[in-house]
Formats: sequence, C-alpha cells, structure tokens
Amino acid sequence: GLTPESYRRRHEITVSGDNVPPPFTSFGSSGFPSEILREVHNAGFSAPTPIQAQSWPIALQSRDIVAIAKTGSGKTLGYLIPGFIHLKRVGKDSRLGPTVLVLSPTRELATQIQDEAVKFAKSSRISCVCLYGGAPKGPQLRDIDRGADIVVATPGRLNDILEMRRISLHQVSYLVLDEADRMLDMGFEPQIRKIVKEVPARRQTLMFTATWPKEVRKIAADLLVNPVQVNIGNVD
Ligand code: ADP
Ligand code: MG
Repeated sequence: GLTPESYRRRHEITVSGDNVPPPFTSFGSSGFPSEILREVHNAGFSAPTPIQAQSWPIALQSRDIVAIAKTGSGKTLGYLIPGFIHLKRVGKDSRLGPTVLVLSPTRELATQIQDEAVKFAKSSRISCVCLYGGAPKGPQLRDIDRGADIVVATPGRLNDILEMRRISLHQVSYLVLDEADRMLDMGFEPQIRKIVKEVPARRQTLMFTATWPKEVRKIAADLLVNPVQVNIGNVD
C-alpha cells in the first residue's frame, strides 16, 4: 500500500499541525458505519477525494480544521460524514436544538448541502433542516419546531430567526463554516460573528474554503482553536 507521505505527495496534499493522522486512502480503511458506507456505495463513489481522505481522520479526532481545496473537490461530504458520526457519538435530543450547524453563503448552496445530507444520512435516522432567505419564514420555523439534528443555513436568515428567538444554538457542538471565502466576500462577517456568539465555546469548528486570503485567515484565527490545516494543490 501507499504510505501516508506518498499518498499526500501524489495528491498534492499539504498538512500542518501536530500529529496529523494518516489519510483514509480508501473507503474500506475509513471505519465508517455500514449505513454510511452503503450510501457511498449507492452513490457510485470509488474512492475518497484527496480533501476527504485527509480531512476525515482529522475531523473524527474532534479537532478543528481548515480545509482549503478548489470547487468541485468534494468538500461537502468532507464535513458532513464526520458530522453524522459526531451526532451518533453525542446522541443529543434534536427537540432541544441542532447539534450540527453548517453556515453556507447562498440559498442554492445551502439547498445542495441539505440534499447531500438527506441522501447520505438516509439510513442513519438523522434529521436536517435548511434555512435561507428569499422564502417565507413560516415553513422553516415549523421545520425547526419539529426538531433537527443538523441545520444548514445562510447567515442572514439564521440571524433573523435567532433575533426572533425561534431557534436555540446552545446544543451545537459541531460548527461548519462552508465556503468561508464566499461568505466573507458577500459581507456576512457580522452575521457570522453574531451567530457564533450563540454557539458554545466548547465545540469543534471546521472551516472549508476554496481560497485562503487574509480576511479568511483572520476569522479562522478568531473562531478556531489550534486547527489542523489541509491544503490541496497549490491553492494558498
Ligand atoms: P466542493 O464543495 O468542494 O465544491 P462538492 O462537495 O459540491 O464539492 O462535490 C462535488 C461533486 O463531487 C458532488 O456532485 C459530489 O456528490 C461529488 N463527490 C463527492 N465526493 C465524491 C467521491 N468521493 N467520489 C466521487 N464523487 C464525489
Ligand atoms: Mg462546497
């Protein structure tokens, strides 16, 4: 088999952090629960993408992570699958609020994440709701009231619902900032910071981004604790 170093070299993976675990070079070596492996198989995926291979073992150690990889590299499942496993580990009651919170810049992207979550969590009895602007709040509030393990939200709409006191984030222990660079480009930094204030400090925080400019570095430095950084290709 490949050594971790040769796999990383071949796939242009660079890592920084203490004792970074070896990548999962195949689904067989992931140790994922069978209900998740079944959905991966149904999707026809033959191997983890490089960002998944290296992010999964880090996320499963409950460590904070910054993952930098270009669009289309499979980042969504990079955080969703460890999120499903986190949910199984903590076993919280979804009626008290979500355990996993994913922030995403746009309605379209949030909906895609929701679809991927529903598809891959189908056999795991995980509930997921999606909150975004440009649509009536009523149905989204009713979805929240029914209880959800995972909330996928755009920062603007989630902030509105928080101000209405119609959702509690006090049970969130797995926070994902997806497409962090785009969220900042779109001016969502104030909303993100307000939302994060409602999430307990004792949490795992994961940041996924296509680029790594100084604004993104700054918010990562403020919101993540001793993150492991994973970089694919020559994006920096
Ligand atoms: P990104 O967030 O990096 O832009 P996505 O998570 O949207 O990328 O994934 C891009 C596409 O690749 C999606 O259609 C997704 O279902 C697919 N995909 C994800 N993981 C794998 C994999 N291991 N093998 C093949 N396709 C995958
Ligand atoms: Mg993405």
